[in-house]
Order: sequence, then structure tokens, then C-alpha cells
Amino acid sequence: MNGERTSRRSRADEPKSKKGTGEQLRDVWPDIRELIRPRRKILGFGLLLMVIGRLAGLVLPYSTKFLVDDVIGKRQMELLTPLALTVLVATIIQGVTSFTLTQVISKEGQRLIAEMRRKVQAHVGRLPLNYFDANKSGTLVSRIMNDVEGLRNLMGTGLIEFCGGLLTAFAALFILLRISPLLTGLALAVVILYAAVLQKAFAHVRPIFRERGKITAEVNGRLTESLSGVRVVKGYHAEDREEKNFSAGVERLLNNVLQSLTAISTMSLSATLLMGLVGAIVMFVGARQIFAGDLTLGGFVTFTAFLAFLVAPVFQIVGIGTQLTEAIAGLERTREVLRETREDQDPRRTADIGEIDGLVTFEDVHFSYEEGKEVLKGVSFTSRPGTSTALVGPSGSGKSTIIGLVAAFYVPESGRVTVDGQDLSTIRLSGYRTQIGVVLQETFLFDGTIVDNIVFSRPNATREEALEACRIARVDEFAEKFTDGYDTIVGERGVKLSGGQRQRVSIARAILADPRILILDEATSSLDSESEALIQAGLEFLMKGRTTFVIAHRLSTIRRADQILVVEAGRIVERGHHESLYAAGGRYYDLYTKQHGVMANLFLAPGEGDLVPDSLA
Ligand code: ADP
Repeated sequence: MNGERTSRRSRADEPKSKKGTGEQLRDVWPDIRELIRPRRKILGFGLLLMVIGRLAGLVLPYSTKFLVDDVIGKRQMELLTPLALTVLVATIIQGVTSFTLTQVISKEGQRLIAEMRRKVQAHVGRLPLNYFDANKSGTLVSRIMNDVEGLRNLMGTGLIEFCGGLLTAFAALFILLRISPLLTGLALAVVILYAAVLQKAFAHVRPIFRERGKITAEVNGRLTESLSGVRVVKGYHAEDREEKNFSAGVERLLNNVLQSLTAISTMSLSATLLMGLVGAIVMFVGARQIFAGDLTLGGFVTFTAFLAFLVAPVFQIVGIGTQLTEAIAGLERTREVLRETREDQDPRRTADIGEIDGLVTFEDVHFSYEEGKEVLKGVSFTSRPGTSTALVGPSGSGKSTIIGLVAAFYVPESGRVTVDGQDLSTIRLSGYRTQIGVVLQETFLFDGTIVDNIVFSRPNATREEALEACRIARVDEFAEKFTDGYDTIVGERGVKLSGGQRQRVSIARAILADPRILILDEATSSLDSESEALIQAGLEFLMKGRTTFVIAHRLSTIRRADQILVVEAGRIVERGHHESLYAAGGRYYDLYTKQHGVMANLFLAPGEGDLVPDSLA
């Protein structure tokens, strides 16, 4: 449950394989098809608009031939008005289609992005915990927000414009051939040469783009961490280090962008050269053809106008090609995330657990986060309904892992965790998780009001019920002193409340949830004795009648527990009541009496510490 620990899960920012765009496209094609299918009509409509618009766009250049050769050359003035009107109408058609196209297709593209974001977030939220252990939250933010952006280019105007460009290029080619096959052949040769250059250039940029997504995710990830851990950063005066770290990330990103910019400027340079070359050839050969009587003046003018239509799509490919490459890279990453199995997709989870009593059993449970590093090595115990089990032991011994298994955050490698006799790995999680409550040491509060944070556990609770929970957990004691009362905003992660107040809010949250199984991770940080007493009262109420698992740090909790499990290196080495364990003089006794050892602070809760030796005597 610590973000720094790695696990055997795949990481979302792992380098991707070196595939070409064609291969990548083939890989993601089924996904694209799935996206296109429900939008067939709208895309078809877009394509139709595009065809109409592009054809209308050809009218103006084509009319120049008539203008030069017939109206001016042959002095046929009566043709001028119809010609001008045709151009006007064609331009209007072009304008209207292009407006509608942007409206319809761009908006659809944006809708698709919104839909994908929702889909990816919903999926990520339901992935098992070990996925989050392996992937930084910043990286996941990138997955959800940035990677889907590329879809806009795939579904939006980009693709359609590209198709439109190709279409006009073919139409232009047809007209050009009719005007002058020789000139067309020459121009086409240069364009093909350029296409070959582009092909090479893209092969160069593609990996750079792929790398960019990865770098962005990494830099985002680290930034999110350092911002959310700003207190630690400041506490250790590590601002400089964080600055350097971020600066290095930004530098990597910059270098990546610069690299791709070099490639892109090379492309536009060669495009300019191409234009110049084609222009010179057309001028040179065209003029000779006119003198030889093989080409009319109007034909020549029209040819130059149409030439642009032939060349433009090639330029477009530069833009669209990069967009498409980015889009596919993004889609690939999105797809990877969506292929991760959600907790509720686990085919073994078919049983409904129903309303539980809270009998929890561990049967020879083995578990490891990383292959080959067993963290739990055969843990067995039973907690009867309504009893409390205290887990004690040195840090890193596996206590959090045990409660993680009770919450079904993880599944044992071998052995079983059962609740009311049902194997937790076979039950549907939604039905189970609503019956467990969690109060962790790092109480997690959202930046909302106090009452929002409390009803988080049961959104349909009435305000009265929430206030009742506040009263029991003694949230009323401080909340009512605020000007906004229970509607006071607590700040990100509850920073505006004290540690003790945050704990009381999280206890109220658990009381409102009214769970059958309760998981507690007692705070190690010392609170003043008044807060301590208030928290104790809330906890006592909360624990009553529920099967409780507590990673215990307070003597009072440990002594009250129905069962104490002493955990060491992934095994339960002793179990029983406080008195019997103490009397046995084993590991528990050692931990207990070792004032300066690992458990020293365990029994030294404020106001209680001094009493320990006496009360034991
Ligand atoms: P405790 O709660 O007793 O301090 P934990 O259950 O948190 O102990 O940890 C037990 C062991 O498992 C430790 O060695 C710890 O490093 C390891 N561990 C805990 N969480 C993870 C994780 N998400 N990935 C990898 N190793 C982990």
C-alpha cells in the first residue's frame, strides 16, 4: 500500500514496442472500428459534406480557364455573369459545408473524448489495488486526460479532411492530365519523390512521439507526488531537489519536442523546395508548350491553380501523419489500460455474499506482492462475529497486508480467507465492501465540507443521520465552533483540520456506514490527551458489536481486544489475551517490555505511557 514499492503488475508507462504506424494501426484497428461503428452515420454525413465542399472548391480554379480562354480570349462577354454567379454559388456551398462539417464532426470528436475519459476513469477506478501500487497516480491522470485527446484527430476533422484531400487530389489529377499529360507527369514525379522523403521522416519521428507520451506521464507523476507531499518536501527542505528533479523532466520533454521539431522543419523545408522545383518545371515546360501551341494560356493558368490541389494533400499528410501517429500511440496506451482486468471482471467472483454476520477465517494464507518474496507465510486464525482482533508486531511484519486481505484488496496466493464460510475470492466485491468499514491512520478526506466527507460512506443518508454520527464521534465538539459549522470546507486531504479532528471525521464516516466488519489502523502519532479521550469514546462505540481488526498501537485497545495476534515476518508467532500472553513471557512479553525497542511507542500512548510498568506489576 506504499506507492514506492514496486509490484509484479505491468506499469502503464513501460516503453512500447518498436512497431511501424501500419502495424500499430492494425493492432488498434478493432478498437477504432468499435468507436466508428456507432458513429457510422455521422461520419458518412461528414464525408458527404466533405465531397460536396471539395467539389465546389474546384469550381473557382476551373472557371479561370473559361475566363482566360473564352471570356477574355474569345471576347464572349455574355459568359461573364453566369461564370461569376457560378463561382459565387460554389463558394457559398463550400462555406456552408465546411461550417457544418466543423460543427458536426468536431463536436462529435469532443463528445467521443468525453466518453472515453469517462470510460477509462470508470475502468481505472475498478482496477485492483496492486495496479495502483505499480502505477503512479500522476501517470494514471495522464492516461485518463491526455491519451484520449488524440482521438480527436482520429475521429474529428483530421481524418475526414485527409480523405477529402485525397479525393480532391484525385479529381485534380484527372483534370491536370486532361490539360497537359506531360506537365502532370513531371509534377507527379516530384510529388512521389517527396512522398518517399516523408515516409523516411515519419519513421524517424514516430518513436520520438511515442517517447513523448511516456515522458509526459513520468513528469506528471513525479509532479503530482511532490505537490501532494509538499509538507514532507518543505519539512526536509527538499525544494531544491524537487526543483532539479522537475527541471530534469522538463528538459527531457523539451529535448524530445526539439528533436521532433527538427524533423518537422526538415519536412517543411523539403516541402518548400518541392514547391519551388515543381513551379520552375511547370514554368519552363509550360511556356514552351504554349509557344509550341500544345497548351492554351487559360489551360496553363488553370493547370497552376489545380497543381496546388494535387500538392496540398501531400502537405496535409505532414500534419495529419503526425497527428495520426500521436493518436495511435495514445490509443494504444488507453487500450492497454482498458485491457487490465477489473476487480469485478474476475470470473471467479460470482457468488453474492448477502448480509454477513462477520465470522472471518484465515486458512493457511500465503501472499506475496512480488514474485518470490513471500510476505505472509501461512497465516491462520478465526475472528468470531462481533469480536475484536488486535494485530501487533514490528513494522513490515505483515499486519497491513492481513487487513488488506480482509478488505479483499488482495487475493491470497494459496489458502483461503473466508467470511461466514464463503471464500472471499469468489464473492462479488460490491456486495461485500458495503459491509466493511475502514478507518486508516492516514485518514483520507476530500476537499469538501465536513458533512460531505461523512456521508461519503453512505450517500443516501439523511443529514440527521449524519449529524447523529457526528455527535457519537464527537465531531460536533469542534464542527459547531466553525462559522460554517458542518458545512466548513476541509481543504485538500483535510488539511484545515487537526490530526485528531480528521480522525474523528473518519470515525463518524464509519459509524454512519454501520459496517459488520471494521478495519482500523490506529494512529501512531501522539495526540493531546483530550483528543485522545474523545477519539477513544468514538472508537469504542464504533467497535461495539462488529468484527473488528485493528493494527493496534494503544495499550487500551490491545488490552481490550478479544484476541491478540503477534505477527512477525509474515507469521503469527503468538496469539491470545493480553494477560495470558504477558504471563507466557514470550515474544509479546519481549515486545511489551522492550521500552526502547520496536514496540516501545506502542504502549506509550499519551497519558498512558507512565502507567505501563505499574499496571503490569
Ligand atoms: P506492517 O503493516 O506490519 O508494517 P505490511 O503488511 O505493510 O507490514 O508489509 C509487509 C511486507 O510487505 C513488507 O516487507 C513490505 O515491504 C511489503 N509490502 C507491503 N506492501 C507492498 C506493496 N504494495 N508492494 C510490495 N511490497 C509490499
